[in-house]
Amino acid sequence: MAQLIEVKVPDIGDFKDVDVIELLVKPGDRVTKEASLITLESDKATMEIPSSDAGVVRDLRVKVGDKVSAGSVILMLETDAAAPQATPRPPHVPEERKPAPAAAQPQAGAADLRAEVVVLGSGPGGYTAAFRAADLGKSVILVERYPNLGGVCTNVGCIPSKALLHVARVVTEAEETREAGVAFGDPSIDVAKLRAWKEDVVGKGTKGIAGLARQRKVTVVEGVGKFESPAVLAVKAKNGKTTRIGFDYCIIAAGSSVARIPGFPYEDPRLMNSTGALELPDVPKRLLVIGGGIIGLEMACVYDALGSKVTVVELMDGLIPGADRDLIRPLERRIQKRYEAILLKTKVAKLEPQAAGLQATFEGDGVPTPQTYDRVLLAVGRRPNGREVGAEAAGVKVNERGFIPVDRQCRTNVSHIFAIGDIVGEPMLAHKATHEAKVAAEVIAGHKAAFDARTIPSVAYTDPEVAWMGLTELDASRLGIAYQKASFPWAASGRARSIGRTEGSTKLLFDPASKRILGAGMVGPNAGELIAEMVLALEMGSDMEDIALTIHPHPTLSETPGFAAEVALGSITDLYLPPKK
Ligand SMILES: Cc1cc2nc3c(=O)[nH]c(=O)nc-3n(C[C@H](O)[C@H](O)[C@H](O)COP(=O)(O)OP(=O)(O)OC[C@H]3O[C@@H](n4cnc5c(N)ncnc54)[C@H](O)[C@@H]3O)c2cc1C
Repeated sequence: MAQLIEVKVPDIGDFKDVDVIELLVKPGDRVTKEASLITLESDKATMEIPSSDAGVVRDLRVKVGDKVSAGSVILMLETDAAAPQATPRPPHVPEERKPAPAAAQPQAGAADLRAEVVVLGSGPGGYTAAFRAADLGKSVILVERYPNLGGVCTNVGCIPSKALLHVARVVTEAEETREAGVAFGDPSIDVAKLRAWKEDVVGKGTKGIAGLARQRKVTVVEGVGKFESPAVLAVKAKNGKTTRIGFDYCIIAAGSSVARIPGFPYEDPRLMNSTGALELPDVPKRLLVIGGGIIGLEMACVYDALGSKVTVVELMDGLIPGADRDLIRPLERRIQKRYEAILLKTKVAKLEPQAAGLQATFEGDGVPTPQTYDRVLLAVGRRPNGREVGAEAAGVKVNERGFIPVDRQCRTNVSHIFAIGDIVGEPMLAHKATHEAKVAAEVIAGHKAAFDARTIPSVAYTDPEVAWMGLTELDASRLGIAYQKASFPWAASGRARSIGRTEGSTKLLFDPASKRILGAGMVGPNAGELIAEMVLALEMGSDMEDIALTIHPHPTLSETPGFAAEVALGSITDLYLPPKK
């Protein structure tokens, strides 16, 4: 039997007389338990108040501009059943912990150098943390084992791979422009020059980071760092000399390394990891890529464009496991035509060096006989460097997988030691590392910061690109989350037709009750750029009208999320959808 209950503001900690800045429901709306009802904003935080029960909103008791505290009645709700009223979930409020106590000072003479903050590792996590801490007035030492700053991302990851993918795209676009009546002939590829160009791109990045460090007076110490105690990091230089650095706070940003499959002939230079493949030793006639994840497929894309016959082998039943299958299909269809083979549910059981190349023996249904490849790229993931920093000497916990667990303020179990980036967990992405870096530096400087992002977007810079953020359909069905889906096929986009790439699509997932965006996925050229708008939409709590009523420039691929939102609303005119009965 239905029952009318009061839904009240739950305990919201120290907050009193907080402004109501937004009403998210109106009388007559059906809400699920936990659905957001109103938004409150204090000078410290913005929070959404969830519903204690499922039911229909009968009467709103607050309006925008009202001030509320714990216990204030928000609305009257007609519940679906005469169930006892559940205790409301406390709203999500960013942590407000005091700055961590600094490390106990090392004994006099135990340190050769001192800094308020020592950052271990100069990847996107490390250099961002060091620079933010310096900008907030801290003295900072940045420790890096290699002469060049920038870590994996700048030296052997994001940047060189995207430089080569840019060239790959130019090559394939020139090839495909033949269909439009313009032929350039086959490209002549000067591998040495291409390598030098890519190295120049990387060099400009690493020099830029070194310049930024100098401008901020961040001291860079080169060498391998390991904790000697909770207050001292010992850095061993190439010449064997050890420098002991005393610190008040440390941020561990030592990243990750390539994972290996035991038993492969690593001494054979024809077996490469992603770093080796980015060195571009030559363009192999036949290339085997072991691992159909993002890194393997990006490198496959590069070598295919340069002229290699590429085979991709993946253990799972689809490429890029974790992404929704409808987003992967257009990529799969395109590369199936271009590559020599894509072998799914297949394992490379043996890899044997021979004079003519590396011979791979496959295991799985309907696999080919052993094949010989000029080069093999092993791209089966990365493992965190947690076990390589002497964490035990500082009392810092490392889990069984080698990650260093941290809280939302990026603190380890030792309160003055923080950790960020690949070393703290998945997803191993540069934009997650830089975001965490700022949180750690700000918490150290006494700011009320926490990692509170609603999503970390993922992008495969393949051709076509695949990008997604927020909720995926795979996760929604695994977690039993209800959603309304709206897709827009790029075949109906004027811009997609004008660049000859109509295989793409944009899909949006909305909350069926509030109509707010929950997730988005795109496949097609530039999907990686386009997804950013949907990340902002999610962060801002946008609903389908916000997206559909935003005027996107025409003709652009950026219109496609707007069109998908129109599909959701039923107002789309660029497609014909039969009216719903
Ligand atoms: C081929 C490839 C392509 C990629 N493409 C993308 C992409 O397009 N977008 C994206 O977001 N991510 C991409 N990534 C992932 C991205 O590079 C990482 O997520 C990112 O670099 C992690 O940053 P980090 O600061 O945590 O660590 P890292 O970049 O790994 O930096 C850690 C640094 O610490 C140093 N270090 C480690 N141990 C010590 C020690 N004991 N003493 C001194 N120094 C030490 C290392 O030398 C390194 O410089 C890619 C990765 C690869 C391999």
